[in-house]
Amino acid sequence: GRKFFVGGNWKCNGTTEEVKKIVSVLNEGQVPSSDVVEVVVSPPFVFLGLVKSSLRPDFHVAAQNCWVKKGGAFTGEISAEMLVNLDIPWVILGHSERRLILNESNEFVGDKVAYALSQGLKVIACVGETLEQREAGSTMDVVAAQTKAIADRVSSWSNIVLAYEPVWAIGTGKVATPVQAQEVHFELRKWLFANTSPEIAAATRIIYGGSVNGANCKELAAQPDVDGFLVGGASLKPEFIDIIKSAE
Ligand code: 13P
Repeated sequence: GRKFFVGGNWKCNGTTEEVKKIVSVLNEGQVPSSDVVEVVVSPPFVFLGLVKSSLRPDFHVAAQNCWVKKGGAFTGEISAEMLVNLDIPWVILGHSERRLILNESNEFVGDKVAYALSQGLKVIACVGETLEQREAGSTMDVVAAQTKAIADRVSSWSNIVLAYEPVWAIGTGKVATPVQAQEVHFELRKWLFANTSPEIAAATRIIYGGSVNGANCKELAAQPDVDGFLVGGASLKPEFIDIIKSAE
């Protein structure tokens, strides 16, 4: 079985005081055991140390990005080696905000995923179509191309969680319906089956992101190919605990 996975992407939010508050809410939350659900929260780089040192031991941390290759003269970047050095186990790569606002291409994201894995990081790799692409009927072509750029560069998927995040659902309150999410997750798993291996297709967690909240998570979690969530806005609020509970 694929262990349910709930990620909290805090994006570019928070002050020290707010971060301390979120951590204390998480630390007091009653959630299923780590045999049932894997929980990873992703604060901005500057708060990773604070969160890591104060967060309950059954939850883990992720960076929101890292550099595409070995560190060096790349002003403003953070390398995979640095994350490993600080014992940060996870990194989010290919988020649509980086693909679209910072122009990260499929190939660049694929290179990042391969490099991060090579350094020992675990990766939450994000894919997803825009509204325009969905309306043009190209959802599956878009997410397949994004996934292929990763698959072309990695051999093992055991340290990858694939996050399907339709851009039109991110921060909009327009969550994908359980049927819409299941449809794409099923197609992605079929793509992995045909293009990687049956074992990888069966074992890889495919999680959904985009306007997930405490009220809509249960129905989404009940879909057979929805193996968890990547949560933005609601991960900054106490309802993140309710989302974690949807694992059971
Ligand atoms: P929201 O949950 O705020 O829609 O954001 C989703 C997301 O982008 C998680 O990475």
